[in-house]
Amino acid sequence: MHILFACPHHDPAAWVPLLEAAMPGCRISVWNPDGPPSGAQAALVWRPPAALFEHETGLTTLFNLGAGVDALLKMPEIPPQVRIVRLEDAGMSVQMAEYALYALLRVSRDFEAFDHAQARQHWDTREGSRQADWPVGVLGLGQVGARVAQTLAEFGYPVAGWSRTPREIPGVETFAGAAALPAFLARTRFLVNVLPLTPDTVGILNRETLSQLLPHAHLVNVGRGEHLVEDDLVQMLEEGEIDGATLDVFHTEPLPKDHAFWRDARVHVTPHIAARTLRDESIRQIAGKVAQLQRGEAITGVVDRSRGY
Ligand code: NDP
Repeated sequence: MHILFACPHHDPAAWVPLLEAAMPGCRISVWNPDGPPSGAQAALVWRPPAALFEHETGLTTLFNLGAGVDALLKMPEIPPQVRIVRLEDAGMSVQMAEYALYALLRVSRDFEAFDHAQARQHWDTREGSRQADWPVGVLGLGQVGARVAQTLAEFGYPVAGWSRTPREIPGVETFAGAAALPAFLARTRFLVNVLPLTPDTVGILNRETLSQLLPHAHLVNVGRGEHLVEDDLVQMLEEGEIDGATLDVFHTEPLPKDHAFWRDARVHVTPHIAARTLRDESIRQIAGKVAQLQRGEAITGVVDRSRGY
């Protein structure tokens, strides 16, 4: 198989030798928009330019170097018959579990208040909250969300999760489908969004849904910026209808310097780093799938375009 490396944001010198070592039977080349088409059948992509698909018309499979494929599915230049394969976990779910756990401990154990107390050399013997005071709800129970839910449940927090189809996760109360969303929200104080961005989930974090959470709620958004109606959150914070948020993804990235989120101490901003793509794990996973394809076997992680993820 001839595989093209077409990730303008990644240094090919750091990837190509590792790809060649992992797939000795394949030809690996770097996309050259100024040269003739390579004739490659597959490509590794991350935020590729539209020109790739006008130039390389022989591509039949795209390996996306990320879990979310929303950006690819918005590109009309990708012919419908091209198979899109996403990363499945590949070391991301544990990072996301760490991120969610950090955000949860930070608010539920009052660590910020202790930082402020230290600055005043104040021995703050406040009464702490109990885990039962922090029911966690995880939107999305896929490769990443299931790991997040399970990790927080293992720490002893009451955890529920919401998915499109029914899921079973030990120690986690599960809800499925749009009709179950109100009941899920009504028992949740700490909401973590790990949904894929699809026509069904765009804008799902809005005033109507967030106002159904328990009082003194905290939102963690690690899905996509477009899941959140940002103005709704800004207003709800202003009105004291939600206590705070930990946000990793935004409508515009980098987050514009004049955005209200930068200035609100109740909002914790991180620059889309909740779960980074790990090079070795990703290459190992893609090489395994290439080998399966070459043996004529079916592979997992193929995006269902009609579902949007
Ligand atoms: P998966 O496809 O494995 O899981 C998606 C989950 O969302 C499934 O449980 C699915 O339900 C559920 N879901 C999808 N649509 C709906 C809907 N309409 N209603 C209810 N539930 C729905 O994805 P991953 O876990 O691998 O990744 C999820 C997302 O996390 C990615 O798409 C990406 O946007 C984001 N992400 C962000 C990163 C970051 O650094 N900030 C890093 C990695 C991922 P069902 O189980 O029924 O299919």
